[in-house]
Amino acid sequence: MIIVIKKTTGKNAITNFVNSIGLEYQALVKCDRCIYLITKHSQKFDDAQTKIIKNSEIVIDTFETTNEYQLVDRKTSRICAPKIVVKNHEICSANKFCIFAGPCSVESPELIFDIAKKMSALGVKILRGGTFKSRTSPYGFQGLGLHALKLLHQAAIENNLLSITEILDTRDVEKALDYVDIIQIGTRNMYNYPLIREAAKTGKPLLLKRGFSATYKEFLLAAEYAYLEGNSNIILCERGIKTFEPYTRNTLDITAVPVLQHLSHLPVIIDPSHSSGFSYLVPALARAAVAVGANGMIIEVHTNPSKALSDGEQSVNIETFEKIIKTLSKIAKSLDMEIA
Ligand code: PEP
Ligand code: MN
Repeated sequence: MIIVIKKTTGKNAITNFVNSIGLEYQALVKCDRCIYLITKHSQKFDDAQTKIIKNSEIVIDTFETTNEYQLVDRKTSRICAPKIVVKNHEICSANKFCIFAGPCSVESPELIFDIAKKMSALGVKILRGGTFKSRTSPYGFQGLGLHALKLLHQAAIENNLLSITEILDTRDVEKALDYVDIIQIGTRNMYNYPLIREAAKTGKPLLLKRGFSATYKEFLLAAEYAYLEGNSNIILCERGIKTFEPYTRNTLDITAVPVLQHLSHLPVIIDPSHSSGFSYLVPALARAAVAVGANGMIIEVHTNPSKALSDGEQSVNIETFEKIIKTLSKIAKSLDMEIA
């Protein structure tokens, strides 16, 4: 059970309440509008205890949860539907399709400043750029690390954009704190709970990518790890899963969007780039993302994809990106949504 407590409740009042009913709890999580007291699964309440809970001045509500993920369960949004706000911008809200765009990797100052300027001119609000790269081959371009982080930061600021990059290692989380607005946890790290927890502790919004072979439940439990650190600013990203089909890099599981939105209150976005592996497929998957009701997409854009140091094959050029935006705007409008 989750007992929802008034946000203003002090430590002593919570302790008194817990002691008055001999409550055993697993976690106490502070959120924007309340405090969640998560009881032990084994905890049972008799009539007297139930009465105390019901009549307590500090209790707002209670939830019975059968799911192992509890804080990210859709039910909890009854009291506190967290909004993701970065530097006064609300992102990935219900009727705004949020675009995260930029190169796979921050390759050079010229590239990131040029793309940032072009993305901003096209109305993009969030600049993506890989700085610490999680490459399958150890011989692949590994990213420019801290140097790239600083470039991404500067390019974003100069063009009035928010920034996002993937962090691979708990030792780099602190660097992200100073230089990016949103931390990305990549597909290979969806099961890396220490990393998720460290990243969540920064309080920055997290873009959590689905592990390429993770079930919905495993995905939501990974998000639960972040929420348990008191960070409710979590965006889920379906980026394609491994199937028996070798033609595409991954298979976009479009069904994941309505399923995850049904199970959880967290926003869900799509990555049409990594899910397909080919730039010619990206426009179609981007259209599908809006049509299926996703809260946004993260897309790889490069000024010269054939020269990209990573993922050039799946990166769209500026011209194609502009066409994608125009088409998505039309689809969004017909669904009473807007592109943001
Ligand atoms: C990326 O977005 O650059 C990336 C490496 O994505 P994924 O973790 O989905 O492969
Ligand atoms: Mn990439």
